[in-house]
Amino acid sequence: MKIVIVGGVAGGATAAARLRRLDESAEIVVFERSGYVSYANCGLPYYVGGVIEDRDDLTLQTPESLWTRFRIDVRVRHEVLAIDRAAKSVTVRDIDGGVTFEESYDKLILSPGAQPVKPRLAGIDGDRILTLRTVDDAIALRDAAVVSGGGRAAVIGGGFVGVETAENLSEAGLSVTLIERGAHVIAPMDGDMASFLHAEIRTRGIDLRLGAEVTGFEERGEGVSVAFADGDELTADFVVLAIGVAPESALARDAGLELGVKGSIAVNDRMQTSDPDIYAVGDAVEVTHSVSGRRAVIALAGPANKQGRIAADNIAGRGSSYSGSPATSVLKVFGMTAAFTGLSESAAQEAGFDCDKVILSPASHASYYPGGKVMTLKLIFDRESESILGAQIVGFDGVDKRLDVIATAMQLGASVRSLAALDLAYAPPYSSAKDPVNMAGFAAENVLDGVVEQCFFEDLAELRGRDDVTLLDVRTDAEYLRGHADGFETHIPVDSLRGRLDALDRGKTICVMCQSGLRSYVACRILSGHGFTC
Ligand code: FAD
Repeated sequence: MKIVIVGGVAGGATAAARLRRLDESAEIVVFERSGYVSYANCGLPYYVGGVIEDRDDLTLQTPESLWTRFRIDVRVRHEVLAIDRAAKSVTVRDIDGGVTFEESYDKLILSPGAQPVKPRLAGIDGDRILTLRTVDDAIALRDAAVVSGGGRAAVIGGGFVGVETAENLSEAGLSVTLIERGAHVIAPMDGDMASFLHAEIRTRGIDLRLGAEVTGFEERGEGVSVAFADGDELTADFVVLAIGVAPESALARDAGLELGVKGSIAVNDRMQTSDPDIYAVGDAVEVTHSVSGRRAVIALAGPANKQGRIAADNIAGRGSSYSGSPATSVLKVFGMTAAFTGLSESAAQEAGFDCDKVILSPASHASYYPGGKVMTLKLIFDRESESILGAQIVGFDGVDKRLDVIATAMQLGASVRSLAALDLAYAPPYSSAKDPVNMAGFAAENVLDGVVEQCFFEDLAELRGRDDVTLLDVRTDAEYLRGHADGFETHIPVDSLRGRLDALDRGKTICVMCQSGLRSYVACRILSGHGFTC
């Protein structure tokens, strides 16, 4: 059997290697448009900033190494131009040789990825407007950073690629402006959690502009000016456009294959397109979001690799299926880590779930052992089914581990209550006897069982206006004197509360705040125990 693969990176290279491991006799040909195969897209921002110094470290394999070990015929700088489904062949252009030829296949795998979105804005095709997708892009971007000699860069788009690139350019000594049209960076997170990232980004010296819409570019002398919808303008040595990616599905579309959402390639759970001899994987395909059940495009390396393996399994005659993705993600933002899985609160509401949340601030490990750092953990769950809908964590230590535990539990269908019971590894340098994941489970259990009722920042505007509510701050005197939230005129430190209950009006509902929620919870239990409504 002859298998032709379009795209030799995450999905394509994985499919090729798996095919060989399953079938020693197959003929496997990979066409890759760029000059590199099996390169580390995810490492590109770190090459731009110099954390990864040697560009050779970005390529995990070469055509030679793939031939030596796997007998895979990889042809870089070969672009597949068209698919002839009737003849079962592809038209290929040898970019350097300048020739075009036909290559036949028994099975075809498309893993062409996604391309950076470039809206039709004035000046967008200028030489100083760069994107980051391939090794060549990363080289060009690093060169631009070096040539600028610690100059100015404008990064447009506060998604993964934009934030990571902004950080790396800043670490390389450039003065960076990060521009995001929305109200917060990293759109799959909720604004309350992303606000921690805003603080970190700004503290590290990046000029973060939120709610800023770019309308065009103009090259001026040695720089490029960026125009904003509100009339503002800034000048930079170069611009990095990172406002998202679009599935590279033109080949599939032109071949008459069925398309899915956002112009992606529609596939079944075996990664088969509407033509049974053509498979498609990775950023280019439509998948099921495993929490919302909706069709989605999820441009992440883990799904692309798994799908490549599944396509290969099916071609080799092993039944294998892809059940969808909750889009579990993690990223470094200077000293912080942000990680999330499943649906954000806003996405869960939009998808129609009757959701609730807990937000807590546990320490990464036992507070008495040096070096522990507080993280903020938001857990979103369905009130009726008690299933986990999503989680977001930001912090400085231990974030990825907790998020992966919750992601695993969620994917295995565990209820939010079961997080409380998870038996997780503990010693003081690593965790607490009640791990942050357990704590999230305890908090959710308390909410579901009515042990405590919650109110959040977004409820305050309404609560402030009510005569039947007392807003109570239970932090220490010192904390309160440093400042307090509007409306929280009543202040009784939690440790003095039992002795000062008479200061509170029993006819009113008491709404309690502290710094992290822990002392408020304790205060609520004290108040409930003494007959107050909280
Ligand atoms: P790709 O890996 O993009 O490979 C597609 C290849 O197909 C390209 O090399 C392209 O040249 C080639 N191609 C396209 N059309 C043709 C054609 N007609 N003929 C021949 N070749 C063609 N994901 C994460 O999970 N974590 C991260 O930290 C992360 N960081 C990222 C950072 C950056 C800067 C980028 C760009 C992406 C990042 N991603 C990350 C996303 C991840 O890299 C992708 O989800 C993954 O690579 C998708 O795999 P793929 O095989 O679908 O496409």
